[in-house]
Amino acid sequence: MKPYLICPTCGSDDVMKNGMTRRGKQNHKCRDCGRQESRKS
Ligand SMILES: [Zn+2]
Repeated sequence: MKPYLICPTCGSDDVMKNGMTRRGKQNHKCRDCGRQESRKS
């Protein structure tokens, strides 16, 4: 199983990992709209 990420902004599933935030959360970036998101999981 792989984590399935969907951009909450545009709904795209073309989201890639983009390192970690300072707080240690996984950071993600949508390649469609370019928005960065940090999730709990
Ligand atoms: Zn997006």
